[in-house]
Amino acid sequence: MVDLLRYEHGIHAVDAGYLRPGLAAIHLIVENGRVAVVDTASNACLPRVLDALRTLELMPASVDYVVLTHVHLDHAGGAGAMMAAFPNARLVVHPRGLRHMADPTKLFAAVQAVYGVEEAHRMYGELVPVPIERILSADDGFQFELAGRTLTCLDTPGHARHHLSLLDSRSGCLFTGDIFGLSFRELDVDGRPSVIPTSTPTQFEPEVMHASVNRIVGHQPDALYLTHFSRVEDVPRLAGDLHRLIDAYVDLAERERHSGPERETRILAGLWALMEAEAERQGWRLPAEQWREVLRLDIELNAQGLDYWVGQDAARA
Ligand SMILES: [Zn+2]
Repeated sequence: MVDLLRYEHGIHAVDAGYLRPGLAAIHLIVENGRVAVVDTASNACLPRVLDALRTLELMPASVDYVVLTHVHLDHAGGAGAMMAAFPNARLVVHPRGLRHMADPTKLFAAVQAVYGVEEAHRMYGELVPVPIERILSADDGFQFELAGRTLTCLDTPGHARHHLSLLDSRSGCLFTGDIFGLSFRELDVDGRPSVIPTSTPTQFEPEVMHASVNRIVGHQPDALYLTHFSRVEDVPRLAGDLHRLIDAYVDLAERERHSGPERETRILAGLWALMEAEAERQGWRLPAEQWREVLRLDIELNAQGLDYWVGQDAARA
């Protein structure tokens, strides 16, 4: 049994089970018996996708595309294993992420720098390289057909410079990876979602993130599919919240610019204070210790990313 969410237009979400339930979704777009998989989570999540295909009476050979929104390992860590399991699939990836999928050595070293060597192996296992001839380089506007259904890649940097969003012609919806933030279902209030921007190290670019959010809203989608966690509607309101919180992240990092070795710790405390305010504003009903647990990993990564960003900025100035 898998947790398989079924939406309209042949769109499905598999709960990857990455770290905890409800953290990372792997989306399946099904058109006339052919499949595109959007994001892969880690190697350990592949059996969930195989189960989901069986549930949908589809085969591993039915998968034509594996699309990576970006090459952070909660999205791309399982790409090599998936490509080995799906003999007909081609991997669609941003040009800046391509070489990391063909040879994941450098990427894994960067991840080890964030999480530590042991933890990185525990979380991701061994990364499997993808044969270069099976990789499609997806520049802005790159289109491909899934059984006649047109999917278009949009370059949407701001979270990472190797980030794309996938526009689906049939539903008018987009698969936004991490550029439209995180929206955990545990925080919903009567079905009303909240959203939090993600400033993970090391390529957070706030101005660029604002622009990418605006570009997504400009397509006037009825809904978006986020990797963390799946479908949200009410897109213009959420975009407003993202813009407000991106600005708050920047203000916080700027305030701590000269805090020296304490800077990351102080940014982390500031982010938690910001989340307290957000809990009040959005009326989150979970007890504070529970919503803190839901957000803990991301808030810690966001603090690291903001600390890195403001440090870079200082180095440039
Ligand atoms: Zn992510």
